[in-house]
Amino acid sequence: MDLAQLTAQVPELLQGLRGCGGAGFPTEFKWQAVRRELGAAANKIILCNADEAEPGTFKDAWLLGGVEARTVIRGMIYAAHFCGAARGWIYLRAEYSAQREHLQQVIAKMEAEGLLSAGSGEISYGAGFPGRKIEAHNGGASDAELSTLDWHLKHGAITAIEPQQVDEIGGPGPKQHCGEIEAATSTGLKFQLGICVSGGAYICGEETALLESMEGRRPQPRHKPPFPTQSGLWGLPTLINNVETFWWAARRLEGSADDFSRRLYSVSGCVQKPGVYEAPLGITARKLIDDHADGLLPGATVSCFTPGGAATGILPPQLLDLPLTQDDLRAQGSSLGTCGLIVHQISPQKAAAKIMRFFAQESCSQCTPCRQGCAVFADWLDGKLQWNDPEVHADWLHAMTAGSICGLGQAAPMTIKMLERF
Ligand code: SF4
Repeated sequence: MDLAQLTAQVPELLQGLRGCGGAGFPTEFKWQAVRRELGAAANKIILCNADEAEPGTFKDAWLLGGVEARTVIRGMIYAAHFCGAARGWIYLRAEYSAQREHLQQVIAKMEAEGLLSAGSGEISYGAGFPGRKIEAHNGGASDAELSTLDWHLKHGAITAIEPQQVDEIGGPGPKQHCGEIEAATSTGLKFQLGICVSGGAYICGEETALLESMEGRRPQPRHKPPFPTQSGLWGLPTLINNVETFWWAARRLEGSADDFSRRLYSVSGCVQKPGVYEAPLGITARKLIDDHADGLLPGATVSCFTPGGAATGILPPQLLDLPLTQDDLRAQGSSLGTCGLIVHQISPQKAAAKIMRFFAQESCSQCTPCRQGCAVFADWLDGKLQWNDPEVHADWLHAMTAGSICGLGQAAPMTIKMLERF
C-alpha cells in the first residue's frame, strides 16, 4: 500500500482515536479540519506536543526515548501527507535532554533514508524562530508570510527573488513572493521535521500557550476560537497532537493496532514497579497496580489515587475497582486525562494540597480567578488560611471554573470538590 492509499484510509482507520494528551479530542476531526483549510503545503504545520509536564505522566518520555520514536515520527509524516503540510516540529519538554539527543539521531537516520526532507533535525528554542522577530511592524507582510518566505529561502524550495523581479510580478512586498512559493510547492510534498525545545513551564503544554511560546512570546493560552486548526503557528492552519496520539495513529495506519481499545498508562506512587504499561481502556486502577506494577510497596496502604495525571484530582480507595473509562470517571467528577495513575499513601488532604500548590506555581497568571484561586486554595489546604464561610468558598470555586481561560484554572476546583468525599 503506498502513502496515497494509506492516507485515503485515514477517515476510516482513525475513527475512534481520541487525543492522548488530556483533552481527548477526536483525532480524525482535527486532521480533517487542517486538510480542509486552503493553502500550500508550506503554509500548514504539524506539531507534536511532547511538552509532557503533567505530574504522574511519563509515557511520552518513554515513547520518544527508545525504538518507538520512529513510529511517532511516522505518525507525523502520515498526518503531513493527509493534511498537505510540509513542515513540522516536535515541541519537546526542556528537561528531556536524553530524548532530544535520541530524536536527533532518529531524525538524521530517517532523513538519510529519504523519509524526511533535507534540513530536518534542527533544534530551535522558540523566540520567533526561524530567525525573525515576530512583530506587528514587518513592512506590510504578515508573520505567516514572512515565516513562510524564510523557510523557503533557507531550505531551497525557491531562490531569492530580487526586488526588481518583485515589481514584475505585480506589486510590492513579500506577499507576491508567497504566491510564487505556493506555485513552486504545489507539485510535491516533502516533510521537514525540527525539534523546538519547550519554554520550560507546565503551561507551555497547553496547545495555544505552546504556539505563543514558539512565536517568541510569553506562554499564555489564547482564547478560542479561532482554533489552531484554523489559525495556529504564525496564523497558519496547524495540527497539534500529543506524542502518543501520533504513535497510535501510525500503528493503526500500518496495521499493527486493530483498534483504539488500549492506552499507555504511566503508573507511579507507592507501587513496586513504577513504569509505562500498555493496557486496555477500562482497566481498573487495582489491576494496573497488581497485574502490571507488581503490587504495592511493602507496608503501603492506598489513601487515595489520581487516575489520569494531576489535573484529574484524587479518588478514594473504594474506587480502585472502577473501570478507567472517560464515562465512568466523569460520573465521579474526574476524567481519563493522560492515563497517569498515581497511587498515594499520604493523606488525601496532603495529596490535594500538593496538587493545588503545583497549580498555583504553574498558573500563567493571565486570569485572576486562576491566579488568585489556586494560591488561596493551596494555602487553605496547607492550613495557612482559615475558611469559615462555605458560600464564599463555593463562589471562589465557581469563579475559577467559569472565569478561567484554559483547562488549568477550569480543572483545579475538581480537586477541592473531590476532597469532600473523604
Ligand atoms: S486558567 Fe490559569 S493557566 Fe490558564 S490562562 Fe488563565 S491564568 Fe493562565
